[in-house]
Amino acid sequence: MATRVVKGGPQLTEYLNAAKAVEPLYGDVQKHVLDKAGGASGRRLDVMHPSEMVKSDWCHLAAFHRLRLEAEAPGRGNTTFTRENIFEEGHRTHSKWQTWLTEMGRLAGEWHCLYCGETFWADYTPPACECCTAPASCLRYDEVSLIADPVRVAGKADGYSPHDSALIEIKTLGLGSLRYERPEFLERYIVDTDKGRLPDLTRLWRDFRRPLPTAVRQVQLYMYLARHFEDLDVERTVFFYDFKSTQETKSFTVSYDESFSEPLIEAAAAIVDCLNSDTPPFCNLNGRAGCPSCLEFKENSK
Ligand SMILES: [Zn+2]
Ligand SMILES: [Zn+2]
Repeated sequence: MATRVVKGGPQLTEYLNAAKAVEPLYGDVQKHVLDKAGGASGRRLDVMHPSEMVKSDWCHLAAFHRLRLEAEAPGRGNTTFTRENIFEEGHRTHSKWQTWLTEMGRLAGEWHCLYCGETFWADYTPPACECCTAPASCLRYDEVSLIADPVRVAGKADGYSPHDSALIEIKTLGLGSLRYERPEFLERYIVDTDKGRLPDLTRLWRDFRRPLPTAVRQVQLYMYLARHFEDLDVERTVFFYDFKSTQETKSFTVSYDESFSEPLIEAAAAIVDCLNSDTPPFCNLNGRAGCPSCLEFKENSK
């Protein structure tokens, strides 16, 4: 098969410049989305997030610095158009599964009333707003806050089903996340085609048999927070996965394992003690020399 080749030199430069030219409407959309987000990401900055705590490169000293800076000058978080785009896409997938589950009456959690602006907890799909009696059409399911104030950890689960003693996590599987988290798995399905080396999506999806490792670690911590700090009856987490490339879906279950989260909660408690006594902890990854995360704060404070 013949492929069109763009040769180097002035012709290539022109081609690349044309591709770079920004359509004004596209620029306006980006500005609109960033204005709407108020320039800040929706995440709380005064707490530690399970998603960062479960990473192998979570640095206790960097967490300490970030929380201390946040206390001194709140609201320094920022966002980008790509980040907002990822959030919005994830939000739509969540909303689809949450709508089905609430129609079934299987979802407990916080509900937001578009009419009066209040948020309230309900163990089942509420028939009307508890605060202003607005009809159910004004209500939106708003996830499950998991907050552990004493250790300053907070996260949000996508749902909670008391009937199933389960938290719900809704995920989209894209090639980007696989490339980042399980490159060896993705590599097994790369085949030579007349369009180049591409993944065999049918076989890849067929063999996708467990949630991605970071997602499993994250829900273990969610379940710990739900049981110990929110008093929810939780035994397991149910994952719903949407495969972006084909719109096929799968479900997995992860059982609760108390021992996984204990060291992370102890570490968070130790960081809070350090904040209270204003004594920085050691970098848990590279001792006195420091790791890339905490060295960034060192350089900024120079
Ligand atoms: Zn209301
Ligand atoms: Zn460090």
